[in-house]
Amino acid sequence: GAVVHWFKRDLRVRDNTGLSLAGQLAKEKGIGVIGVWILSPQDWEAHLVSPQKCDFELRSVEVLQKELAALDIPLHIEVVERRKEVSARLISLAKQWGAKNIFCNLEYEPDELRREEKLARLMLEEGINLEPQHDDCVVPPGSLATGAGKQYAVYSPWFRTWIAHLHKHPELLLQRPTPSKNPSFVRDKFAQLFDLPIPTAPASKSMDEGTKTRMGQVWPAGEAAASERLDRFLEEKVGKYQATRNFPALKSTARISVHHAAGTLAARTSVRAARDVNSTKRLDGGNEGIRGWISEIAWRDFYRHVLVHWPYVCMNKPFKHEYTNISWEYSTTNFQAWTTGRTGYPIVDAAMRCLLSTGYMHNRLRMITASFLAKHLLLDWRLGEQFFMLHLVDGDFASNNGGWGFSSSAGVDPQPYFRVFNPWLQSEKFDEEGVFIREWVEELRAVKGKGVHNPYEAGGEAERVARRAGYPKPIVEHKMARTRCLERYKEGLGRS
Ligand code: FAD
Repeated sequence: GAVVHWFKRDLRVRDNTGLSLAGQLAKEKGIGVIGVWILSPQDWEAHLVSPQKCDFELRSVEVLQKELAALDIPLHIEVVERRKEVSARLISLAKQWGAKNIFCNLEYEPDELRREEKLARLMLEEGINLEPQHDDCVVPPGSLATGAGKQYAVYSPWFRTWIAHLHKHPELLLQRPTPSKNPSFVRDKFAQLFDLPIPTAPASKSMDEGTKTRMGQVWPAGEAAASERLDRFLEEKVGKYQATRNFPALKSTARISVHHAAGTLAARTSVRAARDVNSTKRLDGGNEGIRGWISEIAWRDFYRHVLVHWPYVCMNKPFKHEYTNISWEYSTTNFQAWTTGRTGYPIVDAAMRCLLSTGYMHNRLRMITASFLAKHLLLDWRLGEQFFMLHLVDGDFASNNGGWGFSSSAGVDPQPYFRVFNPWLQSEKFDEEGVFIREWVEELRAVKGKGVHNPYEAGGEAERVARRAGYPKPIVEHKMARTRCLERYKEGLGRS
């Protein structure tokens, strides 16, 4: 026999709840642990996983395989084309290995919860126990409620309760023990499971060699890379996080979302590490940067709690039903200008080009570009949500959906709909010197001074440079767009 851990969005050995428990049980029984990772191309397709993210996961699996091998734990790697067949395959593997216990960590989207619930039943019929664990959130969904026993729909009071809960339950932040080395017979008995080849990305998710190499350099994969990035951030940047986090050109945030999304780093590990460098050794008090950073990671938990409580957000529905009634513009031309970074709003274009090139966008820019799509272009925010998923290396349903809901005002704890970001002001405020714009909008690199924010408005040399380089004029006029947005949103909301 053996105890199995099924890896999903938790591609790491350290601080992994399911794997840790699998290790403990195996030790008690004097048997070995086997890891399984199954790639279902259909699943990737259905979840709009970006090529960048696929590549990151595959590279992370390669690292995982090595980290596990160092503990003499084999990793069974397999491609199962159809999503529906994954469960049956897991059962047949468990039977083949004589495994009675399969651990895994829960994913909270309704499809995944349903799959695991069914799998648990099917396994039970075969005398196998599926043991899903809470691991992805720092505080498991369902733990926090308002005084009236309801799920919070507003972040701030939820966050206070989150902090209090963690102070009351410090065990939630404890590091889960890494499994010990497998007994030596496992190497022989399961020899064929060691060093299995890492699959290549499905055709629809593949990238050319140049891009792959570049992505490999920008986003080193695996848990060792994650913990190095975390340590460096906590040493060098977290102290000033609160003061610097909104300025993309400063590159002052952790850039660690890719690891939280693939599970090469647990959110718990990040929060614990940040707490431990705080002078108070607590989540509150002490350094403002540390507190601020912890509260950003809490947003990730918040959106997951929302998803579990209101699963319809996964079904293409706005959190607030009345937002179903807004009549969107359906302009393919404008959508294309947005997706290719040719809106004539340099801050928006810089952000979109950065996304296309690196699979990443700074949080402030995600808010600016999302707001621009939903409010200035008045395009259905779900188009933007999908486009982000298809291009983000850190694409994550709950955080992305939450972010789009916030920016479009259709989501939980949103920006009020009548607050329409002024992209020109956002640009001047958060990229004052135009450093970020010049990094990504080649056409405007030669523009000196503030004209870079809006060269056609600035006129003179700025305009000449923009014109010569073929940089587009703004595709919508700000004042008109703002008025149109307010009218259309008001009308839509009034109709419900
Ligand atoms: P830091 O500022 O260093 O924050 C630390 C960690 O906290 C992040 O790694 C992330 O895990 C978490 N976090 C920070 N801000 C948020 C937030 N607003 N919501 C949820 N978690 C947060 N984040 C994703 O991980 N995947 C997405 O697909 C995603 N889509 C987004 C879409 C929109 C429209 C918006 C506005 C935000 C989105 N975010 C998403 C949240 C946020 O922009 C990124 O997590 C952040 O920019 C990642 O950079 P970082 O690791 O340097 O973050």
